[in-house]
Amino acid sequence: MSGDVAKDSGGGSSRSSDQPDAPLSRYESQKRRDWNTFGQYLKNQRPPVAISQCNCNHVLDFLRYLDQFGKTKVHVHGCVFFGQPDPPAPCTCPVKQAWGSLDALIGRLRAAYEEHGGSQEKNPFGSGAIRVFLREVKECQAKARGIPYKKKKKKKKIQIKPNVNDEANSSSKQQPALLSSN
Ligand SMILES: [Zn+2]
Repeated sequence: MSGDVAKDSGGGSSRSSDQPDAPLSRYESQKRRDWNTFGQYLKNQRPPVAISQCNCNHVLDFLRYLDQFGKTKVHVHGCVFFGQPDPPAPCTCPVKQAWGSLDALIGRLRAAYEEHGGSQEKNPFGSGAIRVFLREVKECQAKARGIPYKKKKKKKKIQIKPNVNDEANSSSKQQPALLSSN
């Protein structure tokens, strides 16, 4: 599976000799930059974290860490401008990363993780904890800034099939009745 000759449009490897004039798209270069930033962030941890050991908590910490570079004013509950899209005056509320930026960032890092050999199952950027975090940020910022993010009304129902295939392994994990004799 190491098709190194025939492939010409395959996964973005760092080998540039094959493709003399292939400037990275904006998305690709942003993704590369994000990946480097995240790698640097992990290296700066004490102790440093290898990408293979990275879990969703590191990602969540990373997202919170990025807030200090944010430019989006998120009004706190006590602020008179809470819920106003265009406040007439400045206030002392903190600036943070906008939800949309974080959401896009996670998407790029998620893709980059798998492009760098990470498995889809263990992808920390795809974990449920990240999704929950992003949803909370989104709702919080929508309220604080008076911006209703559009909700998609059409939701596909996910069908969950009951696992009827239990004949195969039903007997193997049965608790031995004799052990519970006290
Ligand atoms: Zn404010």
